[in-house]
Amino acid sequence: VFAEEPKLIAAAQALNEFPPAHLPEIAFAGRSNVGKSSLINALSRRTHVTRVSDKPGETQSINFYGIGPRLSLVDLPGYGFAYAADEKRESWSQLVEEYLQTRKSLKRVMLLIDARLQLKASDLDVIDMLERNRVRYQIVLTKADMVSTKDLARRATAAQQEVDRRSSHVSPLVMVSSQTGAGVLKLRAALSGLAVR
Ligand code: GDP
Repeated sequence: VFAEEPKLIAAAQALNEFPPAHLPEIAFAGRSNVGKSSLINALSRRTHVTRVSDKPGETQSINFYGIGPRLSLVDLPGYGFAYAADEKRESWSQLVEEYLQTRKSLKRVMLLIDARLQLKASDLDVIDMLERNRVRYQIVLTKADMVSTKDLARRATAAQQEVDRRSSHVSPLVMVSSQTGAGVLKLRAALSGLAVR
């Protein structure tokens, strides 16, 4: 499934710019700097996927990537800038919620959390949005190489408990490091299971 180089199909800033929903889709969400582009690159065996910036002040878009005839990946704009204007937060929420509400081909949202950090208020807001729209999702702890094995297990349990408390659509948490490759094969295999047979 991940054999082909990802091709940017669309960088959509509005509902009417979403491409046709032909293939099963996996979307990636997370706070800015969580390691989302690194993970998408690691999954697709690339060193560099065309990057459309989501830094403050620049235009946010939902980026749709084709990775072959069986699966698409969707890079949701990063969120959680403490210094982002309310207006920007609102436009993030509106575009992402429209995507979650309307996208029939969406199989799962991978919600990335930095393994060193707790779930933040902005992460919990996104979880509420996923719950409200009955979207199946899964927590991915990123940068697993940055914490000790013992700490990682403890943090994983805490994060899973926190989402289990509010959720019925959540799949078991996974841990990855794009740096070392730990967990990447396993995640790739799991996502391949959601692709067209
Ligand atoms: P994005 O903003 O979520 O797309 O985050 P990036 O993928 O650009 O990564 C943000 C920063 O975290 C960069 O400096 C990366 O090199 C670093 N990073 C990403 N993944 C890992 C990882 O698995 N381990 C470590 N140690 N650093 C990582």
